[in-house]
Amino acid sequence: MVKRLIEPVVLFGGSFDPVHRGHLEAAREAAEQLSTRDIRLIPCHIPPHKDALKTKPSERVAMLELALADYPGFSIDRWELEQSKPSYTVDTLRRYREEIGAERGLVFLMGWDSLQTLPSWYDWQALAALTHFAVWRRPGYSALPKDVERWLQGRRCSAEQLAAKPCGGVALLQTTPCDVSATQLRALSATGVSSPLLPEAVEQYIRQHKLYQNG
Ligand code: ATP
Repeated sequence: MVKRLIEPVVLFGGSFDPVHRGHLEAAREAAEQLSTRDIRLIPCHIPPHKDALKTKPSERVAMLELALADYPGFSIDRWELEQSKPSYTVDTLRRYREEIGAERGLVFLMGWDSLQTLPSWYDWQALAALTHFAVWRRPGYSALPKDVERWLQGRRCSAEQLAAKPCGGVALLQTTPCDVSATQLRALSATGVSSPLLPEAVEQYIRQHKLYQNG
Protein backbone atom coordinates (compact mmCIF):
# COMPACT_ATOMS: atom_id res chain seq x y z
CA MET A 1 0.00 0.00 0.00
CA VAL A 2 1.35 3.45 -0.88
CA LYS A 3 1.50 5.74 2.12
CA ARG A 4 -0.10 9.09 1.33
CA LEU A 5 2.30 11.87 2.13
CA ILE A 6 0.72 14.82 3.91
CA GLU A 7 3.03 17.78 4.28
CA PRO A 8 4.07 18.55 7.83
CA VAL A 9 2.97 21.64 9.70
CA VAL A 10 6.07 23.72 10.28
CA LEU A 11 6.27 26.19 13.18
CA PHE A 12 8.78 28.98 13.67
CA GLY A 13 8.71 30.86 16.95
CA GLY A 14 10.60 34.00 17.87
CA SER A 15 10.41 37.53 19.14
CA PHE A 16 10.57 38.96 15.62
CA ASP A 17 11.43 42.37 17.08
CA PRO A 18 11.70 43.09 14.15
CA VAL A 19 11.43 40.22 11.65
CA HIS A 20 14.38 40.25 9.24
CA ARG A 21 15.82 38.43 6.21
CA GLY A 22 17.84 36.12 8.47
CA HIS A 23 14.60 34.70 9.87
CA LEU A 24 12.72 34.68 6.60
CA GLU A 25 15.33 33.23 4.28
CA ALA A 26 16.34 30.48 6.71
CA ALA A 27 12.67 29.51 7.10
CA ARG A 28 12.09 29.63 3.33
CA GLU A 29 15.06 27.34 2.67
CA ALA A 30 13.95 25.05 5.49
CA ALA A 31 10.44 24.83 3.99
CA GLU A 32 11.94 23.75 0.66
CA GLN A 33 14.03 21.06 2.34
CA LEU A 34 11.03 19.84 4.35
CA SER A 35 8.81 19.85 1.25
CA THR A 36 6.11 21.95 2.83
CA ARG A 37 4.32 25.17 1.98
CA ASP A 38 2.73 25.54 5.41
CA ILE A 39 4.95 27.64 7.68
CA ARG A 40 3.44 29.33 10.72
CA LEU A 41 5.38 32.13 12.35
CA ILE A 42 4.60 32.40 16.03
CA PRO A 43 5.56 35.72 17.60
CA CYS A 44 5.94 35.20 21.33
CA HIS A 45 4.25 37.39 23.88
CA ILE A 46 6.50 37.39 26.90
CA PRO A 47 9.67 35.54 25.94
CA PRO A 48 10.74 33.77 29.12
CA HIS A 49 14.47 34.12 28.27
CA LYS A 50 14.57 37.69 27.04
CA ASP A 51 14.55 41.21 28.38
CA ALA A 52 11.34 43.13 27.78
CA LEU A 53 10.64 43.61 24.09
CA LYS A 54 11.01 47.02 22.47
CA THR A 55 7.68 47.08 20.64
CA LYS A 56 4.03 46.24 21.18
CA PRO A 57 2.68 42.87 19.98
CA SER A 58 0.52 44.72 17.42
CA GLU A 59 3.63 46.38 15.96
CA ARG A 60 5.53 43.11 15.65
CA VAL A 61 2.51 41.54 13.96
CA ALA A 62 2.17 44.51 11.59
CA MET A 63 5.83 44.15 10.59
CA LEU A 64 5.40 40.40 10.08
CA GLU A 65 2.34 40.99 7.90
CA LEU A 66 4.30 43.42 5.72
CA ALA A 67 7.27 41.05 5.46
CA LEU A 68 5.20 37.97 4.62
CA ALA A 69 3.83 39.53 1.44
CA ASP A 70 6.98 38.15 -0.26
CA TYR A 71 6.70 34.67 1.30
CA PRO A 72 3.76 32.60 0.01
CA GLY A 73 2.77 29.80 2.36
CA PHE A 74 3.91 31.69 5.45
CA SER A 75 1.25 32.74 7.94
CA ILE A 76 1.15 34.26 11.42
CA ASP A 77 -0.19 32.41 14.46
CA ARG A 78 -1.22 34.99 17.08
CA TRP A 79 -2.17 32.52 19.81
CA GLU A 80 0.85 33.16 22.05
CA LEU A 81 0.24 36.90 21.83
CA GLU A 82 -3.30 36.40 23.04
CA GLN A 83 -2.19 34.60 26.23
CA SER A 84 -1.84 36.57 29.44
CA LYS A 85 0.78 34.20 30.89
CA PRO A 86 4.32 33.50 29.59
CA SER A 87 4.33 31.74 26.28
CA TYR A 88 5.91 28.34 26.66
CA THR A 89 6.65 26.41 23.49
CA VAL A 90 5.45 23.18 25.09
CA ASP A 91 1.94 24.69 25.48
CA THR A 92 1.90 25.81 21.87
CA LEU A 93 2.98 22.36 20.70
CA ARG A 94 0.28 20.64 22.79
CA ARG A 95 -2.31 22.93 21.25
CA TYR A 96 -1.06 22.00 17.77
CA ARG A 97 -1.18 18.29 18.57
CA GLU A 98 -4.80 18.67 19.66
CA GLU A 99 -5.56 20.47 16.43
CA ILE A 100 -3.73 18.23 13.93
CA GLY A 101 -3.90 14.89 15.75
CA ALA A 102 -1.15 12.44 16.68
CA GLU A 103 -0.22 11.25 13.18
CA ARG A 104 0.61 14.37 11.22
CA GLY A 105 4.20 15.61 11.07
CA LEU A 106 4.98 18.70 13.13
CA VAL A 107 8.36 20.41 12.77
CA PHE A 108 9.68 23.24 14.92
CA LEU A 109 12.32 25.41 13.24
CA MET A 110 15.15 27.04 15.12
CA GLY A 111 18.61 28.48 14.75
CA TRP A 112 21.66 27.04 16.49
CA ASP A 113 21.54 29.60 19.32
CA SER A 114 18.07 28.37 20.27
CA LEU A 115 19.25 24.75 20.25
CA GLN A 116 22.05 25.77 22.62
CA THR A 117 19.53 27.15 25.12
CA LEU A 118 17.01 24.32 24.81
CA PRO A 119 17.59 22.93 28.36
CA SER A 120 16.43 26.27 29.77
CA TRP A 121 13.05 25.95 28.01
CA TYR A 122 10.13 25.04 30.24
CA ASP A 123 9.59 21.24 30.30
CA TRP A 124 12.11 20.80 27.46
CA GLN A 125 12.27 17.03 27.84
CA ALA A 126 8.60 16.86 26.80
CA LEU A 127 9.14 18.66 23.50
CA ALA A 128 10.41 15.81 21.31
CA ALA A 129 7.31 13.71 22.06
CA LEU A 130 5.29 16.47 20.42
CA THR A 131 7.40 17.66 17.49
CA HIS A 132 10.42 17.20 15.28
CA PHE A 133 13.05 19.91 15.16
CA ALA A 134 14.82 21.30 12.12
CA VAL A 135 17.85 23.36 13.07
CA TRP A 136 20.20 25.53 11.04
CA ARG A 137 23.59 26.95 11.95
CA ARG A 138 24.03 30.63 12.74
CA PRO A 139 27.37 32.34 12.25
CA GLY A 140 29.16 32.85 15.56
CA TYR A 141 27.48 30.00 17.48
CA SER A 142 29.33 26.69 17.84
CA ALA A 143 29.53 24.16 20.69
CA LEU A 144 26.40 22.60 22.17
CA PRO A 145 26.01 21.96 25.90
CA LYS A 146 26.58 18.36 26.99
CA ASP A 147 22.90 17.74 27.83
CA VAL A 148 21.88 18.85 24.33
CA GLU A 149 24.54 16.57 22.79
CA ARG A 150 23.13 13.67 24.83
CA TRP A 151 19.56 14.58 23.84
CA LEU A 152 20.58 14.62 20.18
CA GLN A 153 21.86 11.04 20.31
CA GLY A 154 19.43 8.78 18.51
CA ARG A 155 17.38 11.73 17.27
CA ARG A 156 19.59 13.13 14.51
CA CYS A 157 18.34 12.42 11.02
CA SER A 158 17.99 13.99 7.58
CA ALA A 159 15.17 16.32 6.57
CA GLU A 160 13.70 13.48 4.43
CA GLN A 161 13.74 11.04 7.37
CA LEU A 162 11.52 13.37 9.41
CA ALA A 163 8.65 12.37 7.10
CA ALA A 164 8.73 8.79 8.45
CA LYS A 165 7.13 9.71 11.79
CA PRO A 166 5.22 12.60 13.37
CA CYS A 167 7.77 13.75 15.97
CA GLY A 168 11.01 12.97 17.80
CA GLY A 169 13.65 13.67 15.12
CA VAL A 170 16.19 16.46 14.83
CA ALA A 171 17.40 17.38 11.34
CA LEU A 172 20.40 19.65 10.97
CA LEU A 173 19.72 21.65 7.82
CA GLN A 174 22.17 23.39 5.52
CA THR A 175 20.90 26.92 4.94
CA THR A 176 22.68 29.99 3.62
CA PRO A 177 24.26 31.76 6.60
CA CYS A 178 23.00 35.27 7.24
CA ASP A 179 24.98 37.06 9.92
CA VAL A 180 22.39 39.42 11.39
CA SER A 181 20.25 39.73 14.49
CA ALA A 182 17.27 41.85 15.42
CA THR A 183 19.47 43.44 18.09
CA GLN A 184 21.89 44.70 15.41
CA LEU A 185 19.03 45.96 13.25
CA ARG A 186 17.43 47.82 16.14
CA ALA A 187 20.75 49.55 16.78
CA LEU A 188 21.04 50.46 13.08
CA SER A 189 17.49 51.82 13.01
CA ALA A 190 18.32 54.04 15.99
CA THR A 191 21.06 55.69 13.94
CA GLY A 192 18.79 56.06 10.87
CA VAL A 193 20.93 53.68 8.76
CA SER A 194 19.00 51.32 6.49
CA SER A 195 19.85 47.65 5.91
CA PRO A 196 19.13 45.30 3.00
CA LEU A 197 18.50 42.65 5.65
CA LEU A 198 15.25 44.35 6.67
CA PRO A 199 12.38 44.01 4.19
CA GLU A 200 11.77 47.46 2.71
CA ALA A 201 8.17 47.67 3.92
CA VAL A 202 9.30 46.77 7.45
CA GLU A 203 11.95 49.46 7.36
CA GLN A 204 9.35 52.03 6.26
CA TYR A 205 7.03 50.94 9.08
CA ILE A 206 9.85 51.35 11.61
CA ARG A 207 10.51 54.86 10.32
CA GLN A 208 6.83 55.87 10.20
CA HIS A 209 6.14 54.61 13.72
CA LYS A 210 9.46 55.84 15.13
CA LEU A 211 10.32 52.40 16.56
CA TYR A 212 13.68 51.47 18.11
CA GLN A 213 14.76 55.07 18.53
CA ASN A 214 16.91 54.01 21.46
CA GLY A 215 18.09 50.79 19.80
P1 ATP B 1 17.43 39.32 19.06
O1 ATP B 1 18.65 39.91 18.43
O2 ATP B 1 16.39 40.31 19.51
O3 ATP B 1 17.79 38.32 20.14
P2 ATP B 1 17.07 37.48 16.81
O4 ATP B 1 17.37 38.19 15.54
O5 ATP B 1 18.14 36.54 17.34
O6 ATP B 1 16.63 38.51 17.94
P3 ATP B 1 14.72 35.92 17.49
O7 ATP B 1 13.37 36.44 17.19
O8 ATP B 1 15.15 35.89 18.88
O9 ATP B 1 15.74 36.73 16.53
O10 ATP B 1 14.95 34.50 16.86
C1 ATP B 1 13.92 33.62 16.50
C2 ATP B 1 14.56 32.46 15.78
O11 ATP B 1 15.20 32.92 14.59
C3 ATP B 1 15.63 31.70 16.57
O12 ATP B 1 15.45 30.31 16.36
C4 ATP B 1 16.92 32.17 15.96
O13 ATP B 1 17.93 31.19 16.01
C5 ATP B 1 16.52 32.45 14.51
N1 ATP B 1 17.33 33.48 13.89
C6 ATP B 1 17.50 34.74 14.31
N2 ATP B 1 18.34 35.42 13.50
C7 ATP B 1 18.72 34.55 12.53
C8 ATP B 1 19.60 34.64 11.39
N3 ATP B 1 20.28 35.73 11.10
N4 ATP B 1 19.72 33.54 10.61
C9 ATP B 1 19.05 32.40 10.91
N5 ATP B 1 18.23 32.26 11.97
C10 ATP B 1 18.05 33.31 12.77
